[in-house]
Amino acid sequence: MATSLRVIALDGPSGSGKSTVARAVARQLRWRYLDTGATYRAATLAVLRAGTDLTDATAIAAAVAQASIVVSTDPDRAGTTLDGEDVAAEIRGPEVTQAVSAVSAVPDVRSRMVALQRSLAGQDGAVLEGRDIGTAVFPEAPVKVFLDASPEVRASRRAGDVDTGVAAGGDVAADLARRDRLDSSRAASPLQPAEDAVHLDSSSLDADAVVQRVLELARSAGLTG
Ligand code: C5P
Repeated sequence: MATSLRVIALDGPSGSGKSTVARAVARQLRWRYLDTGATYRAATLAVLRAGTDLTDATAIAAAVAQASIVVSTDPDRAGTTLDGEDVAAEIRGPEVTQAVSAVSAVPDVRSRMVALQRSLAGQDGAVLEGRDIGTAVFPEAPVKVFLDASPEVRASRRAGDVDTGVAAGGDVAADLARRDRLDSSRAASPLQPAEDAVHLDSSSLDADAVVQRVLELARSAGLTG
């Protein structure tokens, strides 16, 4: 079956295992991998550095419009720069994690990040992970997966993930619940499964089983040889 768009959309809440799965699928297919959360985190860092009031959507949009954000699409080499500076570690810190849902709820920020994400994905094949890939970034993606896991499993994954910086703040479960609530209830592209997404639950499946399932879906959609 011929299909023009070579994109796999992988959406779900924090701690659902999206990054591990998306990276592994991209490696197998030799495609690009894009962590779209990193674009919102870098935008948030730009807003914090500008000293912007987080309740002022116009000022937030203006700060993000000035920022130059690049996220690596190599599944073997993560990296994010803001105005040329490596900010990969800083965007996982507690200040950014605390503020990111407010910044990502601003419609102008979202349209800017969606344009950036489409351009980083390119044309030759990409696995994108996020919250709105199947609904807003690539609604015409031939493979859409919504990955979830129980709140307990998601919190314990995040607590073990020293990179997030959330763990250092203590209450990982409360932070996840707070972000889920904000991300799911915002007006612009809330976290919700696309109607045609395949739902997988990684509480009961290990990462490799989820990867195999996504690769099967890609094969059935005619995306792989
Ligand atoms: O995936 P990660 O936890 O790094 O995402 C950080 C935040 O970025 C999310 O809590 C959400 O507010 C925002 N986000 C989004 N849309 C995406 C990816 C992330 O709104 N596609």
